[in-house]
Amino acid sequence: MINVGVLGATGAVGQRFVQLLANHPWFNLTTLTASERSAGKTYGSVVNWRLDSPFPESVGELVVSPTTVDAVKDCDIVFSAMPADIATKLESDIADAGVGVCSNASSHRMTEDVPLMIAEVNPEHAALIDVQREKRDGFIVTNPNCSTIMLATALAPLRKFEFTNINVATMQAISGAGFDGVPAFGIYDNVIPYIGGEEEKMAREANKILGTFENGKITGAPFTVSASCNRVPVIDGHTLNVWIDVKASVDEVIDAFKTWEAPFKGLPTQPEKSVLYLDDDNRPQPRLDRNRGNGMTVSVGRVREGIRFVAMGHNTIRGAAGASVLNAELLHTLKYI
Ligand code: NAP
Repeated sequence: MINVGVLGATGAVGQRFVQLLANHPWFNLTTLTASERSAGKTYGSVVNWRLDSPFPESVGELVVSPTTVDAVKDCDIVFSAMPADIATKLESDIADAGVGVCSNASSHRMTEDVPLMIAEVNPEHAALIDVQREKRDGFIVTNPNCSTIMLATALAPLRKFEFTNINVATMQAISGAGFDGVPAFGIYDNVIPYIGGEEEKMAREANKILGTFENGKITGAPFTVSASCNRVPVIDGHTLNVWIDVKASVDEVIDAFKTWEAPFKGLPTQPEKSVLYLDDDNRPQPRLDRNRGNGMTVSVGRVREGIRFVAMGHNTIRGAAGASVLNAELLHTLKYI
């Protein structure tokens, strides 16, 4: 078994990690960390479990560690759900100490030798780990921001066509801001037309993910993304309206969505369909479609002239913890772990 830890295990993404790892067939969850407020107490006594699945009792008696290099040095991999300001130095120090870090934080996403990976979309970028290993024993692999994951996964089937400009408007769930990120008074009966830093992240991260790996580095993809990001009163599930200048007809785009297959099969967290096209005019919808593929499927629909379409996925599973666990499963099959 591979020993794994979760950094920031009490938060919105951290709880998803615990949910996905508590009974994982390959990974043995040995270490949970959080802030000094929680350290030294059992996980069951400090976590305010807010997921709609039962609390995994098998981890209730694990004692929460402070988030330090020492606390995780016996792990083979750690999954990071840390606030970015803390993750920057901490994740580097952990990787330097020989541990693999699969991170959700934004700190290292654009670092030249760090893969920004969606397992089914750009698995070849894992080779950047070889570049990192010239200077450290461990590694950092990141997954994209939660709205970029939906966009880049939906674009994967369209890569066989030429496209240039992409415009996207997002309707993002409140869980994307963390448990204490959006006060009820701010979001009920409301839409907030600003999410700090999100629009810039969508533009640069999508270029890196769909870029080309050659001679030990990534060359960004040649398209532009203009994003407009909104917070809406949905608990989980980010919905995206996408406009794309693509050299393909409506029928060709629908066919691409329906026939695209991930480049590998059978990993424990991998859904049967990573991209699922829904024919109904009024789908996808977050409440009805976010749990498809155990929360790992990006549902797509409403392809129209323009070309315009809708994409939607579960932000804390496909957009965060699930994507990171799938990355780690892929890295294990590629012998990086
Ligand atoms: P969150 O709910 O606020 O959780 C933060 C976690 O970090 C908690 O476990 C907290 O522990 C711990 N923490 C806070 N301050 C700390 C400190 N000084 N030292 C050590 N641990 C500390 O945040 P989140 O939404 O899970 O997000 C975590 C990371 O994932 C962020 O970088 C975020 O940008 C990224 N992300 C989030 C999403 C999403 O959909 N939510 C998607 C993609 C990426 P205590 O409980 O002890 O305070």
